[in-house]
Amino acid sequence: MDALKDVNLDGVKNIILVLSGKGGVGKSTVTTQLALTAQKNGLKVGVLDIDLCGPSIPRMCGVQGHEVHQHDAGWLPVYTDNTKTLGVMSIGFLLTNQDDPVVWRGPKKTAMIRQFLSDVTWGELDLLVIDTPPGTSDEHIAVMEALKGVKVDGAVLVTTPQAVAVGDVRRELTFCKKTGLHVLGIIENMSGYVCPNCSECTNIFSSGGGKSLADHAQVPFLGSVPIEPALAQAAETGQDFAGVFTSSEAAKRFSTIFNGLLENRQITSNGDMDTS
Ligand code: ADP
Repeated sequence: MDALKDVNLDGVKNIILVLSGKGGVGKSTVTTQLALTAQKNGLKVGVLDIDLCGPSIPRMCGVQGHEVHQHDAGWLPVYTDNTKTLGVMSIGFLLTNQDDPVVWRGPKKTAMIRQFLSDVTWGELDLLVIDTPPGTSDEHIAVMEALKGVKVDGAVLVTTPQAVAVGDVRRELTFCKKTGLHVLGIIENMSGYVCPNCSECTNIFSSGGGKSLADHAQVPFLGSVPIEPALAQAAETGQDFAGVFTSSEAAKRFSTIFNGLLENRQITSNGDMDTS
C-alpha cells in the first residue's frame, strides 16, 4: 500500500510507538508517564491512543469526557492544561457512551487510524507517543502502513517480568523486525514491590525477565518500574503521578528511563532523535 499522501505529521519531530505482547502489563501507563516526563523536561508532546478497543489514555491523562473540537484544518487534540504542551487524541473522545464497546472489523479500524494520522492538527510537536493495542493486530499493521514514508523513530516494548509476558514480547520483536520498526528498548513494568516503610523490594512476579530478553535480543534495556499503588490510583483519577509523587521509586524510574533515552541520544533535548 502506498504511503498516505495526507498524513498530517509535518510538524512532529519524533515519533515513538509503545507496544506490548499482551494487555494489562502497563503499556498505557508507560505511554502516559513517558509523555508526562517528556513534558516536564520541556518538550511539547502528543499522545495518540490507537488502542481502539480499550482506550484508557483519556482517563490516565485526566481528560476523560472532554470533547474533540473541529476547525477548518481538522481535529484539535485535547490539551491537558492551558500550556497546551501535552495534547491527546483517542477514540475515547468520540464515543458517546464510554461503556460502549468498539465492535469494528479491520477495515473500519484501519480507516479510523488513517483519519487520526491525517486529520489531527498536532502543530509543532517535539514528540508524539502512539499507544497501540496489545499484541500485533489490524491496528499495528494499519499504523505501520499509514506511516510508510514518515520517519518513525522506533518502538518501546513493555513487559512484566514473568516468562509468559516476556514470551509475548518476543512476538513483538519479530513484528518490529518484519516491519522494519527500530526497537528503542524494553521496559520491565511491575518489577517488584518496594515497601514504603522499609524500602525492601519484594519481587512478586519475579524479576529480570525484561533485561534477559533485551540482552538475548540485543536491544537496549531501558529500565524497570516497580509496582506502585499510587500509580494505579493516579491512572484511575487522571492525577499527574510524576508531578505529585516526585519522590516515589516509580516516578524516579520513569525519569531515569526518559533520561536514558536522552543520554543514548535516542531523543535529544532539542527534540531531534537519533536512532543510529
Ligand atoms: P495495558 O495498557 O498494558 O493494558 P495499563 O497501563 O492499562 O495496561 O495497566 C493495567 C493496570 O495496571 C492499570 O490499572 C494500571 O493503573 C496498573 N499499573 C500499571 N503499571 C503499574 C505499576 N507499575 N504499579 C501499579 N499499578 C500499575
